[in-house]
Amino acid sequence: MCIKMRDRLAIVVPCYNEEEVLPMSIETLMDTLSRMISEHKIAPNSFLLFVNDGSRDKTWTILKEAYTGYDNIFAIQLARNVGHQNALLAGLCMAKEHADMVVSIDADLQDDVNAIGEMVDAYRDGCDIVYGVRSSRKKDSFFKRQSAQMFYRFLSIMGVETVYNHADFRLMSKRALEELSKYEESNLYLRGMIPLLGYQTREVLYERKERMAGESKYPLKKMLSLAFDGITSFSTKPITMIVTLGVTVLLICLLAAVYAFVSYYQGNVEKGWTSLILSIWFIGGVQLISIGIIGEYIGKIYKEVKKRPKYNIETFLYKENGEDK
Ligand code: UDP
Ligand code: MG
Repeated sequence: MCIKMRDRLAIVVPCYNEEEVLPMSIETLMDTLSRMISEHKIAPNSFLLFVNDGSRDKTWTILKEAYTGYDNIFAIQLARNVGHQNALLAGLCMAKEHADMVVSIDADLQDDVNAIGEMVDAYRDGCDIVYGVRSSRKKDSFFKRQSAQMFYRFLSIMGVETVYNHADFRLMSKRALEELSKYEESNLYLRGMIPLLGYQTREVLYERKERMAGESKYPLKKMLSLAFDGITSFSTKPITMIVTLGVTVLLICLLAAVYAFVSYYQGNVEKGWTSLILSIWFIGGVQLISIGIIGEYIGKIYKEVKKRPKYNIETFLYKENGEDK
């Protein structure tokens, strides 16, 4: 791919009740943007795009002031709170209409803005997706670190491909975003969807900091619900597990049958026990397998209704009358 000179960059920032941290974040992001523009890394009309996700505090007022005060700050106001993933997607879809590459970053700037320069370098080397990956989680609480690690491990057991220690700090090219917008699902888990796109990717390491101000907008409840979406939106493995469990129970039933018959012939069992215990195991196994099979069909329906694109063409080499088009 040819080297892209001075492409337009958009930095998308979802914000939910971020009045405490926002003034600092705007300043830091503007500095970063201006520095990259003066270094001729990105086009002079590169911009910041803030998405106000139905905040109930002064977030929108701060954003409106920033919009008036700076030429390259834009803002979207969502009609209500739709959650981080949806707010982010709204920003990405809007930004891709005006920019060549888009970086997404949280409003609290726990992710290192200095990594954005490295992401742009990777883009200029031809990468379409650049993942920001935390080099360490020293600054996270013990609980957050352990739960995050368990989450990644569990996802990979469940067959969901994710980038380890990567959240939603990443750069995507316009064409990668065009492809992403073809995914029509409504239960979003962007970290699982983006690796499905393919393309040339790279990881950029950075140190994750503590929140500058305000509180985390991701309490345990939201974290668990994101984890649940991550699994149920990407994997039908839990259904397959039911079938496996059913088969296992039937196998145990066979062993139980041998044991029950031996006990029966030895004559040291209560009357009716053998048939009762065998029926319980047998019916249990049959029921689990049946539920699993119904589940497999539901799994198919679930995959069909998502209408995910079946492929994504990266390059098309084509000639007409022997000449490149
Ligand atoms: N956020 C959002 N909508 C929500 C919750 C969070 O747009 O309903 C934004 C929030 O403003 C921040 C980002 O999502 O920019 C990540 O949230 P936070 O930093 O609180 O999560 P944590 O870093 O604690 O996981
Ligand atoms: Mg944060």
